[in-house]
Amino acid sequence: MFSFYKQINSSLLLGAMLKFQEAAKCVRGSVTVSSCPESLIARRYVLLQKLGSGSFGTVYLVSDKKAKQGEELKVLKEICVGELNPNETVQASLEAQLLSKLDHPTIVKFHASFVEQDNFCIITEYCEGRDLDCKIQEYKEAGKTFPETQVTEWFIQLLLGVDYMHERRILHRDLKSKNIFLKNNLLKIGDFGVSRLLVGSCDLATTLAGTPHYMSPEALKHQGYDTKSDIWSLACILYEMCCLNHAFAGSSFLSVVLKIVEGSTPSLPATYPRELNAIMESMLNKSPSLRPSAIEILKLPYIDAQLQHLMCRYSEITLEDKNLNCQKEAAYIINAVQRKLHLQTLRALSEVQKMTPRERMRLRKVQAADEEAGKLKKLAEEKYEENNKRMQELRRGNFQQLTAGALHEFDAPAAEDLPASQPIPSLDLGTRESSVEDTIADLGDHDTATFKPSLM
Ligand code: ADP
Ligand code: MG
Repeated sequence: MFSFYKQINSSLLLGAMLKFQEAAKCVRGSVTVSSCPESLIARRYVLLQKLGSGSFGTVYLVSDKKAKQGEELKVLKEICVGELNPNETVQASLEAQLLSKLDHPTIVKFHASFVEQDNFCIITEYCEGRDLDCKIQEYKEAGKTFPETQVTEWFIQLLLGVDYMHERRILHRDLKSKNIFLKNNLLKIGDFGVSRLLVGSCDLATTLAGTPHYMSPEALKHQGYDTKSDIWSLACILYEMCCLNHAFAGSSFLSVVLKIVEGSTPSLPATYPRELNAIMESMLNKSPSLRPSAIEILKLPYIDAQLQHLMCRYSEITLEDKNLNCQKEAAYIINAVQRKLHLQTLRALSEVQKMTPRERMRLRKVQAADEEAGKLKKLAEEKYEENNKRMQELRRGNFQQLTAGALHEFDAPAAEDLPASQPIPSLDLGTRESSVEDTIADLGDHDTATFKPSLM
């Protein structure tokens, strides 16, 4: 446990330092866009108002002069990336291109990205209802709660969005109520991959600069991040929609972290259906592999029944008035759901056959990347074992030296009689441990490679 604290503390410090650097860059960065409110940004966007500042930069409402009538309002996110080297800029642009391919009614549309005077700018869909965190605070202050039907409806929308991205092997990595937006009372997952674009190799530190409330135990312990870590965060959002409080709350960063890593699993109040509570608890299993995936949850009888009910309701509304935008979106969701269910049965047989040569090539690349990640994981595990062995040898050697000295002075018990957890004061664990971390850091940042804890 001691080493866990040590890991958290040093990472915290690093996180705080990074945050500070980001803030310093932001001050400089935000001047670029806001200093020229009258002029066109990227030859098409006009600044309308500042919506707020987040952990990575400033967000503005803009009008797109090249958009179709009625679709002009968009959001410009100016991200302070500082001095990205050309390679990193290319990487960020490639990732942005990938994100622009995501097209789902429950995901904030990513329109474009460009570099404007040292700033990485992202243009996304505008959600007039602001974020879910604001909505939750508003309800809390008014002493209101969301009706159960509203919660399940929103939860299903989020599941559909998460499933859509996981199917495409994209992780969100920062799911929280502040990154979920409301548009015509539909939830949309936003800030997609923005953290991913920025974290680079200092993943853990950057994440710790944000809020720990939605982070999974494995992410906090630096044991790798995968789709199931997003599922954990989604459960925290579900809890928050029901209770208007964080699932894991505490007075300090560390107390929240301890609750996540070691605390018991929270439950929903008895006023919520047993089934919903059981789903949430399964999503909060400390072991990622035991958590259900988004598609598994969507297929559970309780959720499936709500989904059918929702589809009927959406189609009723759509029949009443087909012109309203929100209903168009609702229709889109029904379509997405129907397509999804249909696809499930067809997938196994025809997926590869249906692919264009380009998609097949991408699949082969993904498979190759998987293989490489597997190899790297194996390598990291071997290195870890090797270092661990060396550390134990060192510890044994040092321990014998220590006890030999102590025997002379105090007539202390023999080494074998001491409990295994006895502290070894003079052994410089820090340097041994950093060599494990260095090994892993040298291997780079790979989603699929779950590394063993370097300090636990
Ligand atoms: P954070 O780092 O807290 O996630 P962001 O930089 O994402 O903050 O957002 C800053 C502010 O801009 C927030 O108040 C958020 O609600 C608002 N905002 C961000 N994206 C959008 C959007 N697509 N539509 C409407 N408001 C947005
Ligand atoms: Mg955000």
